[in-house]
Amino acid sequence: MKVVERTGAQGAEKFYLIAVVQGLFLTLGHVIKNLFNPKRMSVVFYPEQKKALPPATRGRHRLMKREDGTPRCTACMLCATACPAECIHIKAEESPDPNIEKRPEKFDIDMLRCVFCGFCVEACPLDAIRMDIPDVTIADYTRESLVYSKEFLMNHDNKDVVTGYNPPRPVQLTHGPHARP
Ligand code: SF4
Ligand code: SF4
Repeated sequence: MKVVERTGAQGAEKFYLIAVVQGLFLTLGHVIKNLFNPKRMSVVFYPEQKKALPPATRGRHRLMKREDGTPRCTACMLCATACPAECIHIKAEESPDPNIEKRPEKFDIDMLRCVFCGFCVEACPLDAIRMDIPDVTIADYTRESLVYSKEFLMNHDNKDVVTGYNPPRPVQLTHGPHARP
């Protein structure tokens, strides 16, 4: 076995100041190049510019609506049960529609606890909850305002267009009161 001794820095290399100055000049060179040719910079000027999000991004939640504007949700609690962060709180009430047993009187999602796992979307048998609003700036000044209510979650135009995270569901209801277009 041959033992190779470590030699360490030699001569001028021992003066780390030289390497520091070389590094500073390298950085300065990049700064000057980018100043005169900003197009070559791989920088997004947020918030004026926004990057296109990948199609499967898990965005902000929304509750889907039926054609008459009522929630598609039947308060089955599957999403709340699947949620690992226990941040979905649903209070059920009787539906006036005899074909539908229940509907949510209250449907809150505590966004401060949500981990954006998407389990709620996957658990829902009715495609009543989606995470496809491309909003990555979920921030506010109070904790209360980050508990999204049913009214807030339903405040969107209900174009039934898949724009984001929408996993396949085991059951696709094509007829009956829970059918979707
Ligand atoms: S994305 Fe995950 S953590 Fe957030 S509400 Fe849905 S199941 Fe809960
Ligand atoms: S799983 Fe779907 S239908 Fe059931 S409570 Fe959640 S959103 Fe409503």
